[in-house]
Order: sequence, then structure tokens, then C-alpha cells
Amino acid sequence: MPYNITMKKINLANYNKADLIDFFTDLGEKPFRGTQILKWIHQQRVTDFAAMTNLSAALREKLPHSAEIIFPEIVKEQVSQDGTRKFLFQLQDGNQVETVYIPEPDRGTLCVSSQVGCALGCKFCATATLGFTRNLTVAEIVGQLWRLKSKLLITNVVLMGMGEPLLNFDNVVAAMDLMLDDNAYGLSKYRVTLSTSGIVPKMQLLREVSEVSLAVSLHAPNDELRNKIMPVNKKYPLQELMTACKYYFKDPRRMVTFEYVMLAGVNDSKEQARQLVKLLQGVRCKINLLRFNSFPGCNWQSSSEEVLDAFRQILLKAGINTITRKTRGSDIAAACGQLAGEKGKS
Ligand code: SAH
Ligand code: SF4
Repeated sequence: MPYNITMKKINLANYNKADLIDFFTDLGEKPFRGTQILKWIHQQRVTDFAAMTNLSAALREKLPHSAEIIFPEIVKEQVSQDGTRKFLFQLQDGNQVETVYIPEPDRGTLCVSSQVGCALGCKFCATATLGFTRNLTVAEIVGQLWRLKSKLLITNVVLMGMGEPLLNFDNVVAAMDLMLDDNAYGLSKYRVTLSTSGIVPKMQLLREVSEVSLAVSLHAPNDELRNKIMPVNKKYPLQELMTACKYYFKDPRRMVTFEYVMLAGVNDSKEQARQLVKLLQGVRCKINLLRFNSFPGCNWQSSSEEVLDAFRQILLKAGINTITRKTRGSDIAAACGQLAGEKGKS
């Protein structure tokens, strides 16, 4: 059959189950072919159509003319003293993103990137210094999992790598569909967490289309300070954000997790802890206090252990479930907020 070799092939790694079913239906095939190929790609990790033995011979012959299955490649791996691993992925256009794996006795968490860089300019974040280049495709997001699931035990995924996931909404939602799909990665909705800086209208959309867990980067108890350290707050101020969080989960047993990075002398006073308690009144939530992780060119410092503990005690006394998250992988710049790829190296 003559076909145009310059025609761009469709990368089926960009498709969730619904997309694959549409794709096969359009080809005149039965919908179940979509589920079959989903399993081949994501469960068996097969990318060669010829090896997909339950497809008809005719289909196996036909597919490579119009379709392909391509995931990004790992080009570098670093291992921290604490066992945390950082992977550098090379994308087809030469861009790079990082993925972090955090092993713990009872789980293995993969921290996945959603964009090359980030446009939001939070003052304490290394990714912000890169600026924004582009959104990742579905294949590039889920590919971080695809490449690593054969080597590592992955029980949890957090969208807390580079980028603001809700500003790459469609691709992130399709990638999370695959993470939850029993015919793909089969992770529980409690074990896939999207972290956002608080893009309120997209949070409202997300609750309609996905059941994943939600973390919100808060980092300040009032608008004045949050405007300074997270410019996105000028667009979506705290009251709007709190309302979105209050109504986020339809299931009353689920809670939003707030992340709060402890910056010495900036957001860590007892008075600010009390403001935070007031702000969170009526919001069912947990708080993760993060130690600030430094990166080249930044002047902030993490709060001392005493200050951190005093802050935490005020939240606990107010009945807010608060934990201090361990810093992992800081010796290889794999900790929260240190991801800047090779470009961000000093
Ligand atoms: N853009 C999303 C997800 C990626 S950031 C978001 O902002 O939520 C993942 C978490 O690391 C966020 O809570 C972020 O605020 C936090 N973080 C950023 N820079 C940090 C730093 N230098 N030290 C500690 N945590 C940081
Ligand atoms: Fe972007 Fe999140 Fe970093 Fe802010 S903290 S710059 S939103 S990646």
C-alpha cells in the first residue's frame, strides 16, 4: 500500500482508554481493541505492534503505517545517600525534565513533572528560575511512570515535580486517568496526588473529572505575604482558594492537604501560625510543613527546628492534623523545589 512517509504518525502513548476506543472505532475496529492495546502499552510495556499477539494479523500490519508508541528516554540517574533517586528524562524536542523516586519502608512514591519549567514564579522554588517552556504531553507525563515501573516498586504518584499541573489540565487529567485505570497502572485514587499552587477555576473543573487526591501549596497565612512569595495569589486570593478547598471533595471523609514551606523570618512566626488556624477554620484539611530546600542563587533559609516545632504545636492545639515532612534527596537536588534540570545547575 503506498502511504505518505512524511505523514506524522499518531503516538498512541498520548491516549487514555476513551481516546484509544475512539481511535479504533474510527478505524472500523471493535471498541475492545482499545482496551487490548491499553494493556499492551502500559501493563506489558510493549511498543512494537507486531508483538501484540491478540490483535488480528491485518491490524498488526496496518497500525505501524499511521501510529507509533513513543515514550521519553532516561538519560541520567542519580542516587542520594538516603536512597532517593533522581532521573533526567530527554524529550523528543531536546527539552529535559526530572522525576524523583522516594523509597520508604511501606511505599514507593514517584514525583512526576507536568511542564518544562513553570510560569508562576514562586520566590522559593528552583523550577521558577527556569521560566516556562512548554506543557508536557500525556506520553511525557505517563512515560515517567512507564519507564520506571519495571525497575522500581511504585505505590504512589505525586504530581509535585516541575510545573503547575493545573495549567496543563487536559494532558494531566488524561495521564491521571491512565494512572488510575485498572487496564493501565491501576493505582488507587488515594495514592495519586495532584499538587497545585491554587488555580481556582481549574480546581473547580478537576473535581468534576477526576477523583485523585489534592494538595495545595499555601505557604502564607494572609494575602499580603502570599502575594509577595507566590504571585499567583494576586489572581486567585486566599478567600477564593479557601472556598474552592472547602467544597473540593464530594466525599466528606476526604481532605485537602496544605503544603507550607517554613521560611525563616518570613512565614514562620507564632502569630502567623495563629493566622493560619483562623484562615483554615471550616476547611477539613491536613497540613504538611516542609523544610525549605535551598538551591543556587536563593537567599532564603529554612526555619530552625525549634521554630518549626513551635509553629506545629499551635496548629496541633487547634486540632489541625499537622506533620513535618522529612527532606529527602537534597544532596542530589531532588528535594521539593530543587528541580531545575541540568540548566539549573550552578
Ligand atoms: N506547581 C505545583 C507542584 C510542584 S511544587 C505546586 O506548586 O504545588 C511541589 C511542592 O514543593 C509545592 O508545595 C512547592 O510549593 C514546594 N516547594 C517549592 N520550592 C520549594 C523549596 N525550595 N523547598 C521546599 N519546598 C518547595
Ligand atoms: Fe511553579 Fe509550583 Fe514552583 Fe510555584 S512552587 S514556581 S507553582 S512549580
